[in-house]
Amino acid sequence: MYCNQCEQTAHGTGCATSPGVCGKDQDVQSLQETLLYGLKGMASYAHHARRLGMVDEAVDAFTEEALFATVTNVNFDLESLLELVLECGRQNLRVMEMLDEGHVRRYGDPSPTTVQEGTAAGPGILVTGHDMLDLENLLRQCEGTDVRVYTHGEMLPAHMYPKLREHPNLAGHYGGAWQKQRREFDDFSGPILATTNCVLIPKPTYAGRLFTTRATAVPGGVRITDDDFSAVVAKARQCDPLPEAPGRQSTVGFHHSVILGMAPTIIEAVRSGKISRFFVIGGCDGAEVGRNYFSDYAQATPPDSFILTLGCGKYRIREYDYGELLGLPRLLDMGQCNNAYGAIKVATGLAEAFNCSVNDLPLTIVLSWFEQKAVAVLLTLLHLGVKGITIGPKPPAFLSPNVFKILQEKYDLRLTGADARADLEAAIAE
Ligand code: SF4
Ligand code: SF4
Repeated sequence: MYCNQCEQTAHGTGCATSPGVCGKDQDVQSLQETLLYGLKGMASYAHHARRLGMVDEAVDAFTEEALFATVTNVNFDLESLLELVLECGRQNLRVMEMLDEGHVRRYGDPSPTTVQEGTAAGPGILVTGHDMLDLENLLRQCEGTDVRVYTHGEMLPAHMYPKLREHPNLAGHYGGAWQKQRREFDDFSGPILATTNCVLIPKPTYAGRLFTTRATAVPGGVRITDDDFSAVVAKARQCDPLPEAPGRQSTVGFHHSVILGMAPTIIEAVRSGKISRFFVIGGCDGAEVGRNYFSDYAQATPPDSFILTLGCGKYRIREYDYGELLGLPRLLDMGQCNNAYGAIKVATGLAEAFNCSVNDLPLTIVLSWFEQKAVAVLLTLLHLGVKGITIGPKPPAFLSPNVFKILQEKYDLRLTGADARADLEAAIAE
């Protein structure tokens, strides 16, 4: 363990052995860190939701209480800390619900759509991160100009909302997951607007054309705090124009409302054996070796199954053609990582239809995690009592062996193994 949050910290530098000076041991520290990281992820989503006018006093009150529980000499009790950790999952579900509602209210009912990738000749701006309101404001400020706006990374799902995709300045999508941005931003000759994580410290080659919003900031970039993107639009005119370089076309927009709209067909297909299983494979992408586990897993899924994906983890698996089932692509892109809410809605909707629990459905969840929003989503799934989730590619370092054991015993939480195909076969055989 490591803790240096109070004055009595060991040797004035940090309590690095369990227990610390106050008596807090590594398991208490582990649950306090889990709570803090879950809160950070939830706060990110709540920030977007608040900007869309969606707030809930109960979420704010919980955030205060949970932070208080991590102050020195407040809570040394594993049971009550685990309770708070699971409550964080419950509150995060509410936050993801608010964010979804905020998006749908403001941008219309999502629907599947084909997105053109690559660039068209002329000035262009790339928008990355997760904040749809930043995208909307930028589009408004580009109106009447020939400046095209392209989504990047987790902004790809913007195209599923009619009021965003119908904007004349929204031209398409460019690029993949966050870890490739140093190369992709280098290659994109126009300005880049980073609205949230995951932004990397820029290379000098493009720092001068990287803009960020509010809490997001990087050395060398320009931080905008007032929604005035005129400097970004002006930069697009000063930069070299983008080349005519069309890429692939992709289909996005399988929001939970779209999938649940087909519920009678899906339920009938499950009953008649035409659908054997649903897989949720997604979350965060990352650069480490071992993340091919998720693409291997997706490729090993049987042809009579659907794969629901979300978050930038989709970029790991979308390069492969999975074919179709019931006239739909087998790989259904549900949206951003916060659209994990949608995967939960689909799962609970199916469970209701089959009069069983989510754990009794032919459903396998394989989560790639990277940062704290993924922690919040995991806590939400645990709060719902979902068992048998696989996470990876590495176990969270903040979970002590004892805490991990508790989660394994209570929720059958699993880690990605060495062989994705073998893990998949074992999951199907259960
Ligand atoms: S809160 Fe406890 S474990 Fe943390 S620095 Fe203070 S004495 Fe050490
Ligand atoms: S899904 Fe996770 S890793 Fe990917 S961009 Fe979003 S926050 Fe970052």
